[in-house]
Amino acid sequence: MGSGLYRRRDGYGRVRVGTSRDQRRAVYGRDGYQCAYCGTTTAMFQIDHVIPFWQGGRNVMGNLVVACVGCNKAKGATLEPRWLNPLLEHPVEKVRAKARRGLEKHAFRQRLVKMTGGKVEATSY
Ligand SMILES: [Zn+2]
Repeated sequence: MGSGLYRRRDGYGRVRVGTSRDQRRAVYGRDGYQCAYCGTTTAMFQIDHVIPFWQGGRNVMGNLVVACVGCNKAKGATLEPRWLNPLLEHPVEKVRAKARRGLEKHAFRQRLVKMTGGKVEATSY
């Protein structure tokens, strides 16, 4: 899970839109070989969709980060805040502006609204 960017479908049969070779190269060029979640620079890396594609995340630079295999695997296709928070504060600043906007507008809000059964006003995030 979360590592299926090269496949057309993930383990659940959901269609995943793969990143192109150029796109992957661009993400590595922007972020370097450093995990956006744990910051490691000594691991196998993959490109991760911060907001999973099936959750509405787009196949665009602002939603793509470099992640180590361990984090990518652990994160899977979840939108748990613990996987979003480190991203927001990660020293690799280049990614953050766009990703942050996307997260605030979409993922956090949607997630919180869902978790609270709609008790959280969408506008509070
Ligand atoms: Zn990591």
